[in-house]
Amino acid sequence: MVEEKKDVIVLGGGPAGSFSAMQLVAMRPELTESIVLLEAKRQGRDKVCAGGVSGRVMRRSREQLGIDIASLAGRDIDGLNPRFRDMEAKATKKGFGKVIRRQVLDSFLLDRVRDAGVTVYTETPATRIHRTSDGVSVETKEGTFTGKVLIAADGVNGLTKRTLGLDSIGRKEFLYMARLPELDMPSRLIVDYTPILDGVPGYAWFFPEEKGLNAGITGGSAGNMKLLKSVFFKMIQKNLGEDITGEEPIMQVWPERFFSVAVPSYSERILFVGDNLGVTPLTGEGLGVCFDSSRAAAQEALRALDRNDYSFRTYPWRLKTCEFFPTWSLEHVFLMLKSPTLFRLFFMLTTERNKPIEKTLMDLYCRIFAGDIHISYLTALHLMCTMTPSWKLLKSLVLGGGPKR
Ligand SMILES: Cc1cc2nc3c(=O)[nH]c(=O)nc-3n(C[C@H](O)[C@H](O)[C@H](O)COP(=O)(O)OP(=O)(O)OC[C@H]3O[C@@H](n4cnc5c(N)ncnc54)[C@H](O)[C@@H]3O)c2cc1C
Repeated sequence: MVEEKKDVIVLGGGPAGSFSAMQLVAMRPELTESIVLLEAKRQGRDKVCAGGVSGRVMRRSREQLGIDIASLAGRDIDGLNPRFRDMEAKATKKGFGKVIRRQVLDSFLLDRVRDAGVTVYTETPATRIHRTSDGVSVETKEGTFTGKVLIAADGVNGLTKRTLGLDSIGRKEFLYMARLPELDMPSRLIVDYTPILDGVPGYAWFFPEEKGLNAGITGGSAGNMKLLKSVFFKMIQKNLGEDITGEEPIMQVWPERFFSVAVPSYSERILFVGDNLGVTPLTGEGLGVCFDSSRAAAQEALRALDRNDYSFRTYPWRLKTCEFFPTWSLEHVFLMLKSPTLFRLFFMLTTERNKPIEKTLMDLYCRIFAGDIHISYLTALHLMCTMTPSWKLLKSLVLGGGPKR
């Protein structure tokens, strides 16, 4: 049986775990041999995920870690096509992102962790986690690993949060998704918020893949799964013009946590990353949180090792300085707009083009998502210009209707 003592244990070999290990090595190469990554399952399995990787994550991975996610097999995406009722907007942005199957992405990232020199154990689930006098101990079937720091990247159902009794804090939702290999669509992400009208507090998505597309719906809770499924079929009919109720596709269900400042991000000697923190609410982007939180956690872990102080009280502050945080703050408004009338107003204001700067907030959002501009580029002038309704819009608000392009 293995009995290993390390500086850092990374628990979980999904994107958050792999990015964390790579960030640590990039920031302090001499630590490489003192990091271990433990993954419960075999490498190369698929996950329930739509696979949308933002241009920002691809760009930052190249800049900070020297890895080329854009070269992986998948479908290049040129923009976003948000919809609500009969309204729609098209924001085009080359390099907006890419849809990549998770078996491809996760496996690629884990290989890069190995290339960086970190020891990786796959098919090694942690069965017990407990604090010792000088660290955190993780028991597995291979043996026991003790680390001064544990980076908990064990996902939305992870053992670490369950062990600490922190799992139920924060909003969790269920998502339904299906793969539709026979259908095709343009290289844009369709996100349709119409389910709000049916009392589902979420949206339906349609993401093109290399072959076919994947579609799904968010906003599921224990009480509304039947409704969720029927609204999902309705959304497929509305957005793709297909009635698939007769030949129901294989539906997969998976929970997701929504990021909020109330979600616990640390405990003594333990830093949470990725789905242990959550996804952003407007597009459900989790990989952006994985990337940014892994960088913040790596910085925090190194600071702790240097100072021999493992309280991690500065980690929440560090998360607030991450690129995803201001975007999350803006998107958070969306979470509060589950009233159809308010959402209609929000949709119109963010997608209206008749403004002095000839840009909608959605256009700017696309450039931020693609990593083209930092959110700090958004000045008060942009917000004022994009969020002040024109006469035309005020007229259509009073008389009904909305933007259709
Ligand atoms: C239906 C759906 C669609 C989504 N679509 C998108 C999208 O298009 N774009 C996007 O950015 N995000 C999307 N997300 C969110 C995205 O999937 C997650 O944010 C992302 O997977 C989080 O990565 P992670 O590394 O934190 O967790 P995971 O990918 O879940 O990785 C956690 C890893 O930890 C391992 N593990 C768990 N327990 C243990 C243990 N005890 N011991 C050792 N290892 C363990 C697991 O095997 C797993 O590999 C979607 C989510 C859902 C549910």
